[in-house]
Amino acid sequence: MGLTPHGFCQLLEGYVLFEDAGIPAVGLIPRRDMPQIKSKLLPNFLEWLRGKGVKVRRGIARAGDLRPTQQEVCPEKVDIITRKGKEKTVIVSADNHVLDGHHHWAAAWLRSFTAQVPIVRIDLPIKRLLRMAAKFPMVGYKEVGECLLESGVVLVTGMHGDEPAGRMVHAPAGVKVIGPVNTSGSRKLGGVDVNRHFDDGTNGTAESIWQQITDAAPGCVITTHEDDEVDGVYAYCSDDIAHTVRQVLASTGADLAVQVHSDTADDGVVTGGRQPYAGSLERKCSDAGISYCCVETPTGMPLADRVQLQNQIVAGLCKGLTESGG
Ligand SMILES: [Zn+2]
Repeated sequence: MGLTPHGFCQLLEGYVLFEDAGIPAVGLIPRRDMPQIKSKLLPNFLEWLRGKGVKVRRGIARAGDLRPTQQEVCPEKVDIITRKGKEKTVIVSADNHVLDGHHHWAAAWLRSFTAQVPIVRIDLPIKRLLRMAAKFPMVGYKEVGECLLESGVVLVTGMHGDEPAGRMVHAPAGVKVIGPVNTSGSRKLGGVDVNRHFDDGTNGTAESIWQQITDAAPGCVITTHEDDEVDGVYAYCSDDIAHTVRQVLASTGADLAVQVHSDTADDGVVTGGRQPYAGSLERKCSDAGISYCCVETPTGMPLADRVQLQNQIVAGLCKGLTESGG
């Protein structure tokens, strides 16, 4: 099953229901208050616990036998873990609560209730373990948003020369920008729509852009366009980042497109529609397993407003997609 934010809410609700049913559980704790133990510090943490006379034991648990302690998880992070097939040792209390590694546990659970999860079991009930872990000198804390791509974003601007706002957008510091690609004032560059030739090796500009993207090895490519046939702002993107894209579009307060050509937008976001078209950079990204988001503003608004919107959306995406964590 594909992981959706709603799917994960249901997953968590399943556990809340367990609690309602009288299964002993601590109250779910917001992620920012959860002690996080980095993988590379796990040996130090275990050594520190042993030094305090606490027994620790490595082993295997069934995903369905473990319970969450943390209130929320980031669906995109679970999805990335699932797609990349990553494993991480989950730290578990004597009473089967996850102390650290909720995303990896969730990814295993979504695979199967009986999925095998590598664990370290610490011989303390979760309430005591939480108090103990908070005293670990190298403990860290994180917000739930800090979790998405493990590599950065590349912004490609001005693919079409007749879409001025898409050309004038600025990237936040630290984000690699390619472009503006086409400053000719017309859609085509040298008589060719560059964004239909990423798949055939015939266009030098497309080849150069793709080379730069390959060199940068980003987690996501953002492109900025304008659409004169649609009333509201929209984006089409890979489904792994749709949740974040929806949040960013909503945060702008702009009118969002409902219908995008022949596709219906979900809060301004289209995934799995007719776009990305064959030959487009977005299609190329999709084929290469790179997340992508194409931001489109409607030309019915004043240019300054469109540029401001594009800047707001790009900044929101860069922040939402890249703030890193383990
Ligand atoms: Zn365009």
